[in-house]
Amino acid sequence: MDKASPARRANRRLCYHAWFTILRCLGPSSAVFNCDLHCHSTCSDGLLAPADVAARAAANGVDLLALSDHDSLEGLPAARSAAAAAGMGFVNGVEISIEWQALQIHILGYAFDSSHQALNAGLESIRAGRVDRAQRMSSELEKIGIAGAFDGAMRYAANPSLISRAHFGRFLVETGAAKDLRSVFESYLVPGRPGYVDHRWATLADALAWVHAAGGLVAVAHPGRYKLSRAEMRRFLAEFKDLGGQAIEVVSGSHTQEHVEIFGRYAREYGFLASRGSDFHGPGESYFDLGQLAALPDGLKPIWKAF
Ligand code: AMP
Ligand code: MN
Ligand code: MN
Ligand code: MN
Repeated sequence: MDKASPARRANRRLCYHAWFTILRCLGPSSAVFNCDLHCHSTCSDGLLAPADVAARAAANGVDLLALSDHDSLEGLPAARSAAAAAGMGFVNGVEISIEWQALQIHILGYAFDSSHQALNAGLESIRAGRVDRAQRMSSELEKIGIAGAFDGAMRYAANPSLISRAHFGRFLVETGAAKDLRSVFESYLVPGRPGYVDHRWATLADALAWVHAAGGLVAVAHPGRYKLSRAEMRRFLAEFKDLGGQAIEVVSGSHTQEHVEIFGRYAREYGFLASRGSDFHGPGESYFDLGQLAALPDGLKPIWKAF
């Protein structure tokens, strides 16, 4: 959807959200309810333990946090306790990997019953193939002369069953194959590049059904990141809505101001609730720290009012 170079897109993201951070530093912005509904811990591919993610969010002035690890609910109890200890609101979250027309897309589930059997079984089914996928990724990297990637990536994975491309990315930076994570995802681990392999994720219908069965709401994660034409995006959003999807992430650490405007318009047009999340993975690695994002544009219905 965005033809600018990755470096230009990253710059535009920084400029846009930096304004908001500057405004917050100028004085307490009591008008902004600071929700961060997208972040990761060591239970998936984040760098901080769940309790440390919550403590950091509270220190950054977040009012309501959702931990949304990839395909796992394991970090929720510890994050919830730490949030309570810091007097910060907390809501259950999860980021589910799905496959739609051969593209890997992420959807976010919120405010569900984390003990629900169908949700837990569904997440277990998509976690199951990650180790095998990681071995196949490692074999592909070996073919271009990068040895030991499986063990190297595993050293970064506190939760081996959630071994992800982010862990491979850290290993590739460590070996000098790329200078930073952004460069990793330009040269490796994406379709058509070394280290990318196919994988069976959940279907859109299944992922929505699991979260809905557990009483939760579902949002599309960082829609500006997908390589979809306008027509394909419309088809995806229409299908998501037909299946009962309720929201889209409008303000995201992955979005430029242009994305915020585009997806704000889609939210109004399709009647979606709007969400806001940093997609924080760790200090020094993520562009945006917890809670340090622009506010939702006026006139959108915040998803947190529906929790
Ligand atoms: P996986 O679930 O194994 O496919 O890994 C996906 C993860 O890789 C994402 O959740 C991000 O943490 C990371 N990732 C994907 N694309 C990028 C990118 N362009 N820059 C930085 N990290 C990325
Ligand atoms: Mn991730
Ligand atoms: Mn994601
Ligand atoms: Mn994420």
